[in-house]
Amino acid sequence: MSQVRVRFAPSPTGPLHIGGVRTALYNYLFAKKNNGTFILRIEDTDQTRFVEGAEKYIMESLKWCGIIVDEGINEGGNYGPYRQSDRKSLYRQYADILLEKGYAYYAFDTPEQLDALRKESEKEHKTFIYNADVREKLNNSISLKESEWKEKLNRGENYVIRYKMPQNEDINFEDIIRGKIVVNTSTLDDKVLFKSDGMPTYHLANIVDDHLMEISHVIRGEEWLPSLPLHIMLYRSFGWQAPLFAHLPLLLKPDGKGKLSKRDGDKMGFPVFPLFWPYGETAKGYREEGYYPEAFVNMLALLGWNPGTEKEIFSLKELIDSFSIERVGKSGSRFDPEKAKWFNHQYLENRTDKQLASEFKEHLNAHGYQVADDRLEALVGLVKMRVSFVKDLWDQVDFFFKAPETYDQEAIKKRWKDDSVKQLSELKTILEKIDDFSSSRTEEAVMTWIGEKGYNTGAVMNAFRLVIVGASRGPHIFDITSWIGKEETLRRIDAGLSSIGR
Ligand code: GLU
Repeated sequence: MSQVRVRFAPSPTGPLHIGGVRTALYNYLFAKKNNGTFILRIEDTDQTRFVEGAEKYIMESLKWCGIIVDEGINEGGNYGPYRQSDRKSLYRQYADILLEKGYAYYAFDTPEQLDALRKESEKEHKTFIYNADVREKLNNSISLKESEWKEKLNRGENYVIRYKMPQNEDINFEDIIRGKIVVNTSTLDDKVLFKSDGMPTYHLANIVDDHLMEISHVIRGEEWLPSLPLHIMLYRSFGWQAPLFAHLPLLLKPDGKGKLSKRDGDKMGFPVFPLFWPYGETAKGYREEGYYPEAFVNMLALLGWNPGTEKEIFSLKELIDSFSIERVGKSGSRFDPEKAKWFNHQYLENRTDKQLASEFKEHLNAHGYQVADDRLEALVGLVKMRVSFVKDLWDQVDFFFKAPETYDQEAIKKRWKDDSVKQLSELKTILEKIDDFSSSRTEEAVMTWIGEKGYNTGAVMNAFRLVIVGASRGPHIFDITSWIGKEETLRRIDAGLSSIGR
């Protein structure tokens, strides 16, 4: 394969959807797998849809994901500028080439005229298509005499440049994911390539830039597949070799019915954007929800691509090594918010206690507690299998720091037996005698006592947990007592006995 050069080419029209992040990711993985170059090109030719802050958001999102841009606005490169509005002066000459070769023409129809035509067609339950069937009856440099349209140009009348789509011709082309495709041109319209505001449309700018930037593979969302026949025609009209194309299947709603949208996220409480979007109508982001970027990227990679094995946990490096476009499926991938949490849980559990403790520290401090590093490490080690997010750790460890002030009534009803007072008083005497308050030593002593007395282990342990924790929750009870220490354990037994009593 000659040099692999791929681009992610988002339009800065708002926050980048996770589907867009996945497109960027697949481009990146493909580039790195093939020792190629990953380019970020900002496609901002549609000034009416431009949203302030979106470009920065896109860059920050990629950075958070660990997707490193080789060539781009900030990175530079030999094929710049990498923002289409900064390349504005470059496109007109290409529209002119098509005009000269007879592949494009000037059209003077006003928006009002086109609107009227559309409405007329609607009345007959048809869709108006600006194409070979009608173009000769409309207001353009094909229907008008040369002197007439030149006069219009001289007068400075508004015009657009349209592609002259041939009539009734089969276009054959290939997509890496979808295979061979044939489209008849009679279904296509004479797309606008250049607008009266002096800007190219997406189609022209995209093709010109992919050509000038020597893009070898275009990997993009399925929503662009309908544009592909036009793009192929444009390459042919210019006499340029087209890149190879791969159109990625959609990310679907959790129920599989339709494209994943922001509204689905709002409804079900999960983000559909990588980062918090702070402008106008704000939106939640994976980063702020507490996801690790590695987990987020891992999850996204597997939404559409499969490694061909059962393996699910992949570092970015492993993804690069295993990725291939051939293993991207044809059908849409259902987004599963629970699976997203599962991925984060896996990454959290695999953190060392030291890493996790340092991540949790600020949350603990925010609750007003401080504790030595080694104690905090031991603590997170006890509960990390129980949470998916660092921010949720507090709810698992609050009782390590605060003795119960109240006791769960349900638990009392179920767990506090007639002989609980007697048994816990005895237990206290046993514990008082233990010097090494380690989990295993305490457990051993307590179990020996229970055995000798012939008590029901479950009953004793449940009551014990109730006075220590205040409810029926938490990790192994002797891990808790070892961490809070002998004094505190005895104090909690006393408090529980006098509070629940009987
Ligand atoms: N600017 C287009 C977008 O926003 C790029 C499509 C393409 O990759 O060709 O998705």
